[in-house]
Amino acid sequence: MITHHLSEEFLVQYANGSLPTPEALVVASHLATCTECRDSVETFENISAVLMEDGDVEAVTPDALDAVLAMIDGPAEEEAAPLIEFDRATLEVIPPALRSYLGGSLSALAWKRTGRGIEEVGLVKQDDVRISLLRIRAGQKVPSHTHRGDEFTLVLSGGYTDGDAHFVKGDVSLADSAKDHAPVADSEGPCLCLTVRNGAAKLTGPIGRFLNPVLRG
Ligand SMILES: [Zn+2]
Repeated sequence: MITHHLSEEFLVQYANGSLPTPEALVVASHLATCTECRDSVETFENISAVLMEDGDVEAVTPDALDAVLAMIDGPAEEEAAPLIEFDRATLEVIPPALRSYLGGSLSALAWKRTGRGIEEVGLVKQDDVRISLLRIRAGQKVPSHTHRGDEFTLVLSGGYTDGDAHFVKGDVSLADSAKDHAPVADSEGPCLCLTVRNGAAKLTGPIGRFLNPVLRG
């Protein structure tokens, strides 16, 4: 059961199309397994649409909203990656929104050992943003670390414990630069995660700020 969700701020920005692509990828991948957040996004979309009709929101272009709606609807599997044939194991753990970032099935990717019992494959490296898949051996402890920016982690399979919190498939964690953490993969099997590291400052979209008081009021 998913217990670690994305904050309302991210869902609002996702719904109105103002969330940058790397973070939107985390949200879309989370929504693939979380009905609760999917329902929230739908609500925020409706609010966003009403606000746009009222002319209160100017920053959202119709194109941006269409793009987001298309992502939420989730591309059909064959549409997501028409040229790549994924094996069953990959289709089972990689959400549709993430598939176009992979050049092939999980077993065929260029995994690099980045630590004891830890392998990583970079999917996107652009400016300050790094999108990767991380595979941690069963029971492996990831050395304690902090981040220069934010780090999103979404569990795709397996699970891990970080302090008092346990994360399983679909769970998301957001670690900022102030947080020192040392996750430990579950002993039952390897843990596969999507990570998005962002060296830039925190997200504070103008529309998100505008909408938050409305939504919480
Ligand atoms: Zn959720």
